[in-house]
Amino acid sequence: MANNKIGIDIGGTNLKVAWVEDNHISSEIIERGTPDNIDQFRTVLWEILNSININNETRLGFSVPGVVDYTNGNIDLCPNLEYLNGINVKDLLQREECMVGNDADMALLGEISSNDLWEENIGLVALGTGIGSSYYISHTGPWQSNLLSEIGHIKVASNGRRCTCGGLDCLETYFSGWSLISQAKKSGLEVEDVYELFNLAQNSNQVASSLILQNIPYLGIAISSMINLTGINKVILTGKISRSYDLFQEALYNSVSNALHPHAKKDFQVIKSSLIDHSSIIGAVARFK
Ligand SMILES: [Zn+2]
Repeated sequence: MANNKIGIDIGGTNLKVAWVEDNHISSEIIERGTPDNIDQFRTVLWEILNSININNETRLGFSVPGVVDYTNGNIDLCPNLEYLNGINVKDLLQREECMVGNDADMALLGEISSNDLWEENIGLVALGTGIGSSYYISHTGPWQSNLLSEIGHIKVASNGRRCTCGGLDCLETYFSGWSLISQAKKSGLEVEDVYELFNLAQNSNQVASSLILQNIPYLGIAISSMINLTGINKVILTGKISRSYDLFQEALYNSVSNALHPHAKKDFQVIKSSLIDHSSIIGAVARFK
């Protein structure tokens, strides 16, 4: 059976499962709320897997929002889903054909395998509730080197804003979903989800627009640092905030360009993913031979 790989993207709020064939999603995507304990997680997952008739040879690739040890497949740290800390999915499901990876790494691997970018030097920034990142230097990805990059926790200012990681003035305290919502509420906007903030800006709400734009330079500093440090020349944006990229594309381009080394300025791109948040599902199975 050619089509025998399933990608499972475990997010902080939703769990998405789909068949993947030839580096593309080949079925409908089944979506459920992410369970809040390990027993429910196993039960929900088996319900989904049984409903789509997996067999003994079906290979399962997992993408998780946390730190993964690629040498042994353990989930070392999953801050938003603590019940996954220390879990090895092979043991959890009593199944050998399982692989697991960090969600930003798997999203980048999905972009690379789906769009045949193996020869490129490329980064990915996932703009959601938090901010994830990964980068790939032609033929070497973090899933091969067991490295973790955390652009969300680069220090981008010195205003003393406290981050969820315990540090101060991380990028996440300026441009993540959680921070933008908190800043929006302080500005008197009634928004519960970052979509709503970007919708307001799309509909010409000045408070929403200026709030987004005043935080763009921080994202620009972090992305230009990523480019200056690694030598990549293309950065792909994913995550729910990236869907509104047209609202801040020009401002971000200028911010990144201003902080880049002159050599890097000549040839760089910051683009939106074409895979609409499905890249982690594709990437999660891309390491199976
Ligand atoms: Zn932080």
